[in-house]
Amino acid sequence: MDFFSTTKTLGILGGGQLGKMLLYTTRKWDVKTKVLDPSENAPAQLACDEFVVGDLTDFQAVYDFGKGVDILTIEIEKVNVEALEQLEKEGVKVYPQPHVLKTIQNKCSQKQFYKKHHIPTASFEKYETLDQVKDAVIKGVLSFPFVWKSAEMGYDGYGVAIIRSNKDIEQLNPGPCLIEELVPFEKELSVIVCRRPQGETTHYPVVESEFHPTANQVEYVLCPARISDQAAEKAIAVAQQTAAAYGHIGLLAVELFLTHEGEVLVNEVAPRPHNSGHFSIEASYTCQFEQHVRAVLDLPLGKTESKVTAVMVNLVGKEGYSGPVVYKNIDQILAIEGVIPHIYGKKETRPFRKMGHVTIIHPKIDTARKMAQQVKETLSVITK
Ligand code: ADP
Repeated sequence: MDFFSTTKTLGILGGGQLGKMLLYTTRKWDVKTKVLDPSENAPAQLACDEFVVGDLTDFQAVYDFGKGVDILTIEIEKVNVEALEQLEKEGVKVYPQPHVLKTIQNKCSQKQFYKKHHIPTASFEKYETLDQVKDAVIKGVLSFPFVWKSAEMGYDGYGVAIIRSNKDIEQLNPGPCLIEELVPFEKELSVIVCRRPQGETTHYPVVESEFHPTANQVEYVLCPARISDQAAEKAIAVAQQTAAAYGHIGLLAVELFLTHEGEVLVNEVAPRPHNSGHFSIEASYTCQFEQHVRAVLDLPLGKTESKVTAVMVNLVGKEGYSGPVVYKNIDQILAIEGVIPHIYGKKETRPFRKMGHVTIIHPKIDTARKMAQQVKETLSVITK
């Protein structure tokens, strides 16, 4: 199917920053696009050919949108899967496939998938209610500390809590959840794998994520990860095993824990462009967004090696500020060589809302990491 300067349309469910960055490639190649998002101010609305406002979790909204496109992809996984299944039956190509989304949308079914496919992951138990968790603690079946994860509500660390006492349990959502062993990991890694329908598969280098100490959100991503060759090989092998089990089409970001004993465990996956791949816009021969477009259009995949070392820092809304956004001191960071800011176009800031990111490229990773910290301390996302 020829998508270059034709009327063939690529549909994207979700018009956030990931959708906006996917559109850099479709604009470059003159591929026609249509985007569905619940917000009329979504970051992606300016760069697509057609923009539709609608609920991504509503069967009819997703079905009606999908009927008008040739290939349908996502930039967020919380979408109506039943509508995607119906569209697939009716001949629309849906990538990632609905069965992949169905497995990953629920954290319990995702973990059971790893167990079934002998993919290394932290041990876990499924609970239908919070009362059952409390009961298990009283009976001594479950002991502190452990990790609680809401079965379906999670996003950016919001449905995840480390539980160290009975008091911590009281703050939790009462619904179905997953209780996981707390992994005292050495590093959090991720590997982005990409696969096209005819089977060609590639992967990006292993990256390392550093988290904000209290917000449970990624603050920095370093490429390459500062780990041994042996650990990197293991991380790639586990990511490839995971991707092969899913048989997905498009990108699959595999989030991993590297333990102190050198073991690699899968935490979770995202079948779409991922925050841990933003570095690739400046640092890789083929950026993750272009790679995803290549894969879903069944085109040859691009080279995934890095041209240069990079560190990405997320720009999130500063605590204490809510309202129309201002990027204070952005001119100061633009004056530094190798510092490239990306502003997503969200008009309102809130504490810890992802508003943009900055990529720092430098031949030495330790220098790039120090520069990233300097950027973080200089540029603040506040209100007027
Ligand atoms: P989300 O879907 O909200 O991103 P994750 O499952 O990725 O949720 O968890 C968010 C973060 O919580 C992880 O990146 C990690 O820092 C921490 N975490 C999650 N599971 C565990 C675990 N079993 N042991 C230790 N830390 C964990």
